[in-house]
Amino acid sequence: MRVLSMLIGPIVVAACAGEGAGAHGTKVDARDVSERRVAEAASVTLRPGGDGDSWTFNYSVDQPTAELRLYRPSDGSRAASWRLFDADFELIARPYEDGEEDVIRRRDGARFKAVSVSESTAHNADVIGYWPFARLGAGGGVFGYTGRILACAEECPADATGGDGPFPVTIDPGDAAHFLVGSAVQDGPYSYLDRNDGLKFYAGATAPVETNDFVAVIDPALPGDIKRQLDTLFPPLMAYFTERLGAIDEKPSMFVSYNVPGVREGSHIKGGTLPGQVFMHFEGARATEIAARPTFPYFLAWFFAHEAAHLFQNYRGVDFPANESWMHEGGADFLAFLALKDLDAAPEDYLNDRLRSAFDRCAEELQRGPLRGAMERGNFQAYYDCGLLLHMAAAAEVAGEDGSNPFELWRAYVRNAKENGEWSTARFAGFVEELGADVAARLARDVMDAKIEDPTERLLADLPAAGVDTDWASANQ
Ligand SMILES: [Zn+2]
Repeated sequence: MRVLSMLIGPIVVAACAGEGAGAHGTKVDARDVSERRVAEAASVTLRPGGDGDSWTFNYSVDQPTAELRLYRPSDGSRAASWRLFDADFELIARPYEDGEEDVIRRRDGARFKAVSVSESTAHNADVIGYWPFARLGAGGGVFGYTGRILACAEECPADATGGDGPFPVTIDPGDAAHFLVGSAVQDGPYSYLDRNDGLKFYAGATAPVETNDFVAVIDPALPGDIKRQLDTLFPPLMAYFTERLGAIDEKPSMFVSYNVPGVREGSHIKGGTLPGQVFMHFEGARATEIAARPTFPYFLAWFFAHEAAHLFQNYRGVDFPANESWMHEGGADFLAFLALKDLDAAPEDYLNDRLRSAFDRCAEELQRGPLRGAMERGNFQAYYDCGLLLHMAAAAEVAGEDGSNPFELWRAYVRNAKENGEWSTARFAGFVEELGADVAARLARDVMDAKIEDPTERLLADLPAAGVDTDWASANQ
């Protein structure tokens, strides 16, 4: 449901990777489970390989299975980096729904109950999901991501809430001095039931830093000014969202690694969020150049504010197609904008540049067609850009009617969507319309599904009509 980020090459484009990217949606009804289909999540144990540069994943299932299906797609990434210990097994990619899935099976087709794989921690190139590993540049150790490792025997079981899984996982940190799973510090091998999102863990020599608001593992190699910026920004950011959107259940964790020059060419900066976790990884010699750009601190502030906003958005548990992503992605951008403005974490010029870029990119995409089709047209960024504007319009217009703030509006909408079990543009538009936001409601519906003749003109008319000041827009410069 949520998507993919990737930042490759010299240009940094951060987004939220792996968030629910293309996970199997298969629900197994008990009546459908024939002898041929084994509805069982595979147990997996992760531990460092003997060479110090790889990890092994040992899978086992209770009943013999013809195949293990890896829960998340990897777009060929696993095939490139996974090594099966036993030559009698193979890993193949095969078509699944709109994409591909990876499957491990025996070459002779016989059923099996266990199989082992190893992967180098140098492999950090999963294009459609989160990186499997990110090495720290100093002090050793790695951040690992379990979501990419979860697997099922033929079919995934359904949990009590109708989701896939749960997935039994054991992580053995070997002789690592420090070990963190999610945001919880652990002493030794740790077993738990993974949610289908997966989570990040850390095993290595760097001690986590724990405050009242979060737990962090920050790579000692991170340049001092970036580290200081995170130290300054993150605590007030968490307090800001807590005050306005309510406390979150679990103390969040933040993972930042800086492996420069690292093992890849160019620059790769990839960040994202998982339940209770925010992270960013830098890799490649040119990452230093990007980090030294004058606007990088503000980019980073926006990135972390956007990701932190996701932690507080509280939309998890609702199901929606990826092409409705403008709501949570644009919503997180809007909340980030408000936070940075209120916390004085970025200059007005920078924030206006972000709005101007979002406007220009959104209008350009709408020339091509309705926002709903942006993903199929290969422009997921449009959900951020148009979403930011749609949320601004709705919040401004509702505030003009009843004086409520954007945070109250967001909370009320999430409550409404959850009560109705529907997370859609139609529901959002209907909801804000009832609060008096006619212009914003019509704009959201049209942006999403109508062919707007002149998107720039329409946005330039509707945003101010809803109460948004557009002095920053290109046309008004
Ligand atoms: Zn996001």
